[in-house]
Amino acid sequence: MNWISNYVRPTINSLFSRREVPENLWTKCPECGTMLFHRELADNLNVCTNCDHHMAITPRMRFQAMFDGGVFNEVSVPEAVVDPLQFRDQKKYPDRLRAAQKSTGEKEAMLVAEGEMARTPVVMAAQDFAFMAGSMGMYVGNAIVAAAERAVELKRPLVLFSAAGGARMQEGILSLMQMPRTTVAVQMLKDAGLPYIVVLTHPTTGGVTASYAMLGDVHISEPNALICFAGPRVIEQTIREKLPEGFQRAEYLLDHGMLDRVTHRKALREELVTILRMMTGQPPAVKADLPAPTPEPAPVTPPAP
Ligand SMILES: [Zn+2]
Repeated sequence: MNWISNYVRPTINSLFSRREVPENLWTKCPECGTMLFHRELADNLNVCTNCDHHMAITPRMRFQAMFDGGVFNEVSVPEAVVDPLQFRDQKKYPDRLRAAQKSTGEKEAMLVAEGEMARTPVVMAAQDFAFMAGSMGMYVGNAIVAAAERAVELKRPLVLFSAAGGARMQEGILSLMQMPRTTVAVQMLKDAGLPYIVVLTHPTTGGVTASYAMLGDVHISEPNALICFAGPRVIEQTIREKLPEGFQRAEYLLDHGMLDRVTHRKALREELVTILRMMTGQPPAVKADLPAPTPEPAPVTPPAP
């Protein structure tokens, strides 16, 4: 034993083991197979720099990219009753919920926020596909109602980013009840004369397409997003026919009058600002990222005589 094995080696070992290597330093593009460095990918809003494939993006990241300076306030959403049906498949429903909360770091599948986009006040809601496939349960219903109520209260437009596998089967009929419930919430916006814009992202399916995701004044989609009620596999098995190329994808739906626009993720912010300002009768934004205007100098009070 000498000082090299007793002191130097442990020191070197501890130095190396302490250095944390992030697990997902590289992400493989599922479309073209290119290995993408995580920071570069995040800077590009999770769009492949090689083939423009739009990967999933978290609601928080979405809000940061949309709001001025990435600044927003979360709108609180009333809690929902947890596991009212005591549902259990291979796992208990509360266990599934906990696992999703742990992996996403979010409480539930929808996040609501308020803030400004190019000085345009707006309320936004975004669905998280990573959280139990973004499924629409009572909490998501609560979130949409809260978003609509907040928009009406502040007299602001609502922009909603949808991404969902449909209703949350663990909540049975109670999740289906969110379809009429969110429809009423959207109607509240229409009664108040406020714009409601839906950005459909990959994938938006099932009961979500049958309710709030298809009730917008304007429907925008990200490129190549799957948007449908029943998926292509189910339809193919039912009608026993081969479906056309690109069936139920954003571009196909645009061609068939189901969507108004298909917009690249990086162009979304500017496009939303233009549409919102047009619909609310505001002059066009000068530039998307204007700095905060300097406050007007305080009026100089004339000296007392
Ligand atoms: Zn790619």
